[in-house]
Amino acid sequence: MWTGDAFLERLYVEAGLTRAAAAAGLPPDLRRERLLESVKESLGAWERQSEIGCSVMEEESECDGYSRSRVELSVVPDLSFGAYILKPAGAAGKLPGVIAVHGHGYGSRQICGMQANGAKTVGKPDIHNQFAVQLVRRGMIVIAPDVIGFGERRMQADVDRDADAPSSCYRMATQLLMLGRTLTGLRVAEMLGALEAFAGMREVDPERIGIVGFSGGALIAFLTAALDTRLRASVLIGFPNTFKDSIMAVHHCVCNFTPGVLTQAELPELMGLIAPRPLFLESGERDPIFPAAGFLRAADDLRSIYRSRQAEEALSFDLFPGGHEVSGRRSFDWLKDRLS
Ligand SMILES: [Zn+2]
Repeated sequence: MWTGDAFLERLYVEAGLTRAAAAAGLPPDLRRERLLESVKESLGAWERQSEIGCSVMEEESECDGYSRSRVELSVVPDLSFGAYILKPAGAAGKLPGVIAVHGHGYGSRQICGMQANGAKTVGKPDIHNQFAVQLVRRGMIVIAPDVIGFGERRMQADVDRDADAPSSCYRMATQLLMLGRTLTGLRVAEMLGALEAFAGMREVDPERIGIVGFSGGALIAFLTAALDTRLRASVLIGFPNTFKDSIMAVHHCVCNFTPGVLTQAELPELMGLIAPRPLFLESGERDPIFPAAGFLRAADDLRSIYRSRQAEEALSFDLFPGGHEVSGRRSFDWLKDRLS
């Protein structure tokens, strides 16, 4: 008799028992500290350049209500990446800053009002809803780094095979797993370096930096925020859920999977590592890959975590009418208020 489904279900339940046993009797602060350590371990230690490289690739050009420039950053040796800097027009002094992390797609241009070839986006916005542009128009300076594996940062072998290859997630994630590492770990290491470079920029107030991530970008965003308290407020879109209801229930890119993570924590407890700092969770009620039922379960768990830290008012939610996409109808103004 084939019982594969029941078998996997049993392993999931057993992982839950392992988590409960590890947490039993531990004071919450110690549990949190241990969880952070295990998260760092699962992401892997990445060699960092002694000094993060940051040079201007494209000088400022004027857009509608903001200026755009491009810098090249280098965090992990032998890798460099581009990032757009969007600055509100007429802004003076130090500004609140936001790191905008795109999801699967063609890279930072997708959230900065551009097509893949750099031309201005015309017509209805796609699921990323040009969210970096929406943020700069609210008076925040934005950095939008290119996440490794997408757009210009796809591997040559993938582009040679198919110039329109959507990503290099598969090739990169599987090869890193063979080396005992994860693509998520590499992406987070680069994002932590981008934060450091951004915090040091003349126009950025290092005391008022937030992060916004969509879908796979929210995976990177929440881990970066959990690991670096310089991020004062976080908006996670099209991602907050339980592992059980989302990446374990629906087909997802291999870049979402971290070996052993379920023996450490379910996703809501991991996102709760951001507490008591402000956190906004946003999801579409018809999102097929991060379903609403799982979003509501995660919201309940996070409410308990924030309540236990006397910080319930720092947590907000929006389950908006829509699918797997960015809305921003409440979250972007919330972020602006939190960083003001
Ligand atoms: Zn992926």
